[in-house]
Amino acid sequence: MSGHDWAIIIVVVLAVVLVRTLWLVAGAASARDAARLQNTLTSLAETTHDWLWRTDREGRIIYSNSGSTLLGYLPDDVTGRKAYELIDPAGLPEWQVRVADLGRLGLGWSDITLHMRHRDGHLVDIECSAAPIIGRDGRAEGFEGTARPLSADVALATTRSHQRHRVEQILSDHSVRIAFQPIVSLSTGAVVGVEALARIDSDPYIPPDIWLRDAADVGLGVSLELQALQCALDSATALPPNLYVSINASPRTIADPAFLELLLSHDTALDRLVLEITEHESVSDYEPLTNTLGFARSRGLRLAVDDAGSGYASFRHILTLRPDYIKLDRDLTAGIDTDAARRALASAVVMFALELDAQVTAEGVETEGELDTLCSLSVDAAQGYYLARPSTDPAEWARWAGRRLGVVGRDTRAIGFG
Ligand code: C2E
Ligand code: CA
Ligand code: CA
Repeated sequence: MSGHDWAIIIVVVLAVVLVRTLWLVAGAASARDAARLQNTLTSLAETTHDWLWRTDREGRIIYSNSGSTLLGYLPDDVTGRKAYELIDPAGLPEWQVRVADLGRLGLGWSDITLHMRHRDGHLVDIECSAAPIIGRDGRAEGFEGTARPLSADVALATTRSHQRHRVEQILSDHSVRIAFQPIVSLSTGAVVGVEALARIDSDPYIPPDIWLRDAADVGLGVSLELQALQCALDSATALPPNLYVSINASPRTIADPAFLELLLSHDTALDRLVLEITEHESVSDYEPLTNTLGFARSRGLRLAVDDAGSGYASFRHILTLRPDYIKLDRDLTAGIDTDAARRALASAVVMFALELDAQVTAEGVETEGELDTLCSLSVDAAQGYYLARPSTDPAEWARWAGRRLGVVGRDTRAIGFG
């Protein structure tokens, strides 16, 4: 070999040694980096408030940090469980389909709101992001991601949008129906009128005041009340003609021009109607209310203040509006036969009504004892399950005309209308 060849061999050997040395140094560096990265991820997983999780292809949780406590579980409690079991059943089928589609496409999701169930049963709204773990076939072998509770603002906005959607659905489907409940005179024993109560079908059943509160929260309270009122007036045409019809409305609805328009445009005569003002909050400005009421009362509408005895607002309404009827709240009638304080308050309301030339109707009478006591206190009329439950059946409404309690006066005994 020439000197030149030797030089080439030496250069090649040196190059190989250099590359190998660089390779080893780089390898050690990347192993150190990997170890550092691993440490960082471990500290992050241990210190973050977010829930970090990983699932397998079946959606079984195979890793969880302690963030799972946001649902009341320790990591060991959730590891091995299907993530779906932690999601609220109402939204689950839709979510399962969505995740299956994303998995097929090898896609993740970001900042999706999920309703999950806490270990103790209450709903927890969370915000969840995830990336797929891609297998050799290009499909997701599972997902890994984060979840955190929604901030109070976002949670409220989510609840409101949910409420709005449900109320809009009720309004567009016209799904309000009306139940009537008889009101019985305690001096004659006859059914003298009925109260119209809104019914909205849902599973589980949600009472009308909750629907109305939800509607008011999203600015649709007046619309829903007006739809219930329209339905009450329409249904009233099927009632025995001698019964008056008590309708419910809040001060806000009464002050809305559409309220008076509806009352005046309907065939039901105003002098057949009693308007119950349902409101527990104080009214700051009575003027729009008294304007509308003044006009409608001059055409025969009678006025009732609802829920007297359940708060201060009703007494202010009474003083300001001088109603024709005062309705004693069930808070006051429940157990009135065994409670001297309730008797004293009810008796004071009766005296007060006498001064105002108003009549008193007791609500929520459930027992014979309560009814007897109300008779003895000279309450004018009563309403309650003991006498009859609200009914949506027109055949039953027809049977109320002419029905009487057994004996009139102090010893009145009710015959339930079933
Ligand atoms: P409210 O006006 O005080 O109506 C009386 C409530 O007591 C009704 O509840 C009635 O079903 C219930 N009730 C009747 N008898 C008894 C009894 O013996 N025991 C008990 N525990 N309860 C009895 P409902 O129908 O669930 O209505 C709840 C509230 O929703 C009503 O209270 C009223 O404030 C509001 N509401 C109902 N329908 C309408 C409506 O069409 N418009 C408006 N603005 N409010 C309505
Ligand atoms: Ca009422
Ligand atoms: Ca009431």
